[in-house]
Amino acid sequence: DEYLDRLRRTEPQIRSFLHVSETVMREAEEVDRLVESGAALGPLAGVLIGVKDNICTADMPSTGGSKILEGYRPAFDATAVRMLKEAGAIVIGKTNMDEFGMGSTTEGSGFQVTANPWDISRVPGGSSGGSAAAVSAKQCVVSLGSDTGGSVRQPASFCGVVGLKPTYGRVSRYGLMAYASSLDVIGCFGSSVIDTAIILNAVSGHDRFDATSSTHEVPEYASCLISIDDLDSKPLKGLRVGMIRETIGDGVDMGVVSSIKDSALHLEELGAIVTEVSLPSFSLGLPAYYILASSEASSNLSRYDGVRYGNQATADELNYLYGDSRAEGFGPEVKMRILMGTYALSAGYYDAYYKRAQQVRTLVRKSFKDALDKNDILISPAAPSPAYKIGEKVNDPLAMYAGDIMTVNVNLAGVPALVAPCGFVEGGIAGLPVGLQMIASAFNEDKLLRVGHIFE
Ligand code: GLN
Repeated sequence: DEYLDRLRRTEPQIRSFLHVSETVMREAEEVDRLVESGAALGPLAGVLIGVKDNICTADMPSTGGSKILEGYRPAFDATAVRMLKEAGAIVIGKTNMDEFGMGSTTEGSGFQVTANPWDISRVPGGSSGGSAAAVSAKQCVVSLGSDTGGSVRQPASFCGVVGLKPTYGRVSRYGLMAYASSLDVIGCFGSSVIDTAIILNAVSGHDRFDATSSTHEVPEYASCLISIDDLDSKPLKGLRVGMIRETIGDGVDMGVVSSIKDSALHLEELGAIVTEVSLPSFSLGLPAYYILASSEASSNLSRYDGVRYGNQATADELNYLYGDSRAEGFGPEVKMRILMGTYALSAGYYDAYYKRAQQVRTLVRKSFKDALDKNDILISPAAPSPAYKIGEKVNDPLAMYAGDIMTVNVNLAGVPALVAPCGFVEGGIAGLPVGLQMIASAFNEDKLLRVGHIFE
């Protein structure tokens, strides 16, 4: 009742959801009945979860934020959704996003723009802006997003919530609409690190429907956290923390930099050894990411042809059917990415763009490996600025892409990263939240959650 009531009151301003489930109350009553009967309950019994609209749900529409899939209802649940339901969670609705995950503000949704709950004249970030805003406005307890180049971490930072991008392969991508398959991961949002850890546990593990999902053992993430009672005993003693030099220099908001430096001091007080590290290929990651993500997208999005699902144009010749369905259904950003990707992959340009971007990816992976051999975790801001105004960057795609500088390298390297609120800067009505990004080696999510928990 409390959550639905708040959702109804806040949704006209925030617009986090593209679809709200009609069966939430019935499902919650079912949990009540189970409690009364003393039956065994799943670990997430009755927990309300928002699901990004590019993650398939059998009983609700799944559009990926695109008009081309308006009205589409998948025949199956994504593995992550199935696992959450098996643990007892209730899906409250499908959250707004930039079309197919391409964007950083939700302004690229084919349906609506979501507002930042801290200041409704500002963007919530993106592309998982609906999932971040919904947790921030307490319209649901936790939510799922997807992160190809920062789409969980940057909105978590803008909305003042916790966001986790797991290791590539930690969570099955089965039922996640593919944007750039070698970078895509399903991630989690919570209003605390503990909530995020619990959700990560529920969705992690191998899945025979996703060949890239890992068989690596899944630890009990929530039990790895440090108890508040132990904070006096220097619980981080000996932890080696590298602050990434390239992320705290020119072009980064001064208030953001000082929040990150304050966080470093806090880690030192708790026993960590903080040093500055340099990742020489850091600035190359952004252009390489946009070449690779667009190239993979141009191939992945060929499935939206007006025949298999979604929008179908009226045309009497097959090529017009394809062309018109796509012209009507895709928004401008998606069309631009398809053109960029097709160009980068075409025979004459392949070596100059796609192949070169792959070479840069190898360099980025190596520089992360070197830095993480010497450090347990790396820290940086999650975004160079706090949330900006709706409309501010909408006509300047390069400025918007530049805002992804802090996050894209992590996807190129395939490693996990956690964002937790670590401070505020001036702006908005009562200040704007800043998120600290913590990065670890593959499958070290437990280490990140342990450190992130300290910021609560
Ligand atoms: N903003 C980035 C892009 O548009 C990242 C998006 C994402 O992680 N899905 O590609």
